[in-house]
Amino acid sequence: MSNNNIKHIAEDYNMSEEELIKKINDFGIEIADGNTLAEEDVALLDEMIKEEIREKKGKVVEVEGSITVQHIAEEMGKSSSEVIMKLMKMGTMATINQEISFDIASLVCNEFGYELVKKDNSENEELEIEELMEIEEDDEKDLVHRPPVVTVMGHVDHGKTSLLDAIRDTDVIAGEAGGITQHIGASEVKINGEKIVFLDTPGHEAFTSMRARGAQVTDIAILVVAADDGIMPQTVEAINHAKAAGVPLIVAINKIDKPGANPDKVKQELSEHGLLVEDWGGDVISVELSAKKRLNIETLLEMVLLVAEVEELKANPNKRAIGTVIEAKLDKGRGSVASVLVQAGTLRVGDPIVAGTASGKVRAMINYKGKRVKEAGPSTAVEILGLSDVPMGGDQFVVVPNDKTARLIAEKRQSMQREEMLKASSKISLDALFEQMSEGTVKDLNIIIKADVQGSVQAVKQSLEKLSNDEVQINVIHGGVGAITESDVLLASASNAIIIGFNVRPVSGSEQVAEKEAVDIRTYTIIYKAIEDMKAAMSGMLDPEYVDEDTGKVEIREIYKISGVGTVAGAYVLTGKILRNSKVRIVRDGIIIFEGNLSTLRRFKDDVKEVAQGYECGLSFENYNDIKVGDIVEAYITKEVERTID
Ligand code: GDP
Repeated sequence: MSNNNIKHIAEDYNMSEEELIKKINDFGIEIADGNTLAEEDVALLDEMIKEEIREKKGKVVEVEGSITVQHIAEEMGKSSSEVIMKLMKMGTMATINQEISFDIASLVCNEFGYELVKKDNSENEELEIEELMEIEEDDEKDLVHRPPVVTVMGHVDHGKTSLLDAIRDTDVIAGEAGGITQHIGASEVKINGEKIVFLDTPGHEAFTSMRARGAQVTDIAILVVAADDGIMPQTVEAINHAKAAGVPLIVAINKIDKPGANPDKVKQELSEHGLLVEDWGGDVISVELSAKKRLNIETLLEMVLLVAEVEELKANPNKRAIGTVIEAKLDKGRGSVASVLVQAGTLRVGDPIVAGTASGKVRAMINYKGKRVKEAGPSTAVEILGLSDVPMGGDQFVVVPNDKTARLIAEKRQSMQREEMLKASSKISLDALFEQMSEGTVKDLNIIIKADVQGSVQAVKQSLEKLSNDEVQINVIHGGVGAITESDVLLASASNAIIIGFNVRPVSGSEQVAEKEAVDIRTYTIIYKAIEDMKAAMSGMLDPEYVDEDTGKVEIREIYKISGVGTVAGAYVLTGKILRNSKVRIVRDGIIIFEGNLSTLRRFKDDVKEVAQGYECGLSFENYNDIKVGDIVEAYITKEVERTID
């Protein structure tokens, strides 16, 4: 009986006795003798308290771990297809069982008027995660020899790609088991029975960007210098990058087959940059070779092994795998595909894994020959399938004890990343870009592109991404067809992106959100203008801005076809005013279908200079007749805005 004691029950619900008594009274439940409740009343009370919690929570969807379309649809009492449709409108394709990110799920829930929240993970769990993430220290006796991982660097056109090709060919000649070479970001060759791993992306950009993210994957760098060209600016950069990373260099003096080849001159120039080669009495190994004629390639590989031996590269293969993502992409058929380099431990199919902010279970592993493998030990590059999300090149991956831990860690990292992004970024605008670039506060310029046709999205994406330079990397984080929606703006806000629209407008409401979130939306009708603007902004030379100042919005309500005159619209001024000399944009479903001039503006039968809000008018357009009832005419004037220089 004592279990039904009010005091006891209050403790169960984590309330004070007074609170509970008030509730019991509110619910109209009778308190029996000795401050107790009857057995059936305890059950009733429990039911009512739960109901109350449900009501109070209102439209909240709680999630824990991975989020699927089905799960949130069920929680909101919607059909999965309704949710999928909404997602499609937001530019995300998803199937019922597909995992979607918290951000996307949150946006879609908002669309249905729900709030998405994460279930609280208890402190204990967090502690546990920290522990699980800790990478075990290796005992000297567990360490075994591992193959070297090599990056090829050097000036453009000095033969990096050719050398990598030549190296791969060596392997084929050596009679290794064939197969179609798969691009997984790295390839392996064997020389004298020893394995060497080559990272496939030549140049120091990849090397440096990984390092910038805290990943050190290269053990040895091969510096390619063309014997007919000598040390060039990127050669010097490569030397400096290798030095900064403390990675030993081997110099490949390439193109010795060329008539103008002068290896001695290269050696002399190297000495001027602090690299004294062996035959000059120094300790830098150099190999004179020809990638094209396949000369001395094996010698180079032998030298790599020699340096590797000196470096005593070792790892413990018998622990949970850890390594680095070399590159990753989203594949239509296979989902997230990540090329990873296992640096220690052994990665196996079925392992629960976290890579950056992505998590999952390794569903399949494919090696550089395109073959499926079941496990990959230290210094092995494999492509892995099964991650929920696309990690970034340079992200660390770790195998963890179970799926749940993987999910929790990934989620924790995601929220940390979001918080950091919010903290670090005062929102970017094109006008302030140069300033922020100079201060070094912007390294990445994220862009969202919305356009009326897919072709434009692609064209703009490619042109803009090409503008990336040493100071700033331009990333198109999202591109889609259709008007600029509120979810575009929220995505931009979350990832500190600028939105570029081509022949599209923000839908009503999204402009206000953009203003609130300080998201810069730029709309264009000509692609090259956008590129010019971006270029100018990056060099701090943004032209005096011409801004279109909207003067009013007019709705087309009737259409008259008048012979000899064309199509005339009976219209109503919704906001502001429209002027005879206004420029106009005709917008249908958020897409600009015409931009040009008015040809007539009338009140009744008279030509007028302007018509204000709340009045009807007659409109026709210069060289445009294809109007429909419901079209919105945006009237605007173009104004020059002085750019302020502080
Ligand atoms: P990368 O920009 O450093 O990757 O250079 P590539 O590998 O694309 O080579 C640039 C050009 O140099 C190509 O036309 C190659 O055919 C040529 N090339 C590369 N290696 C040699 C070589 O050993 N001898 C000669 N004659 N040409 C070479």
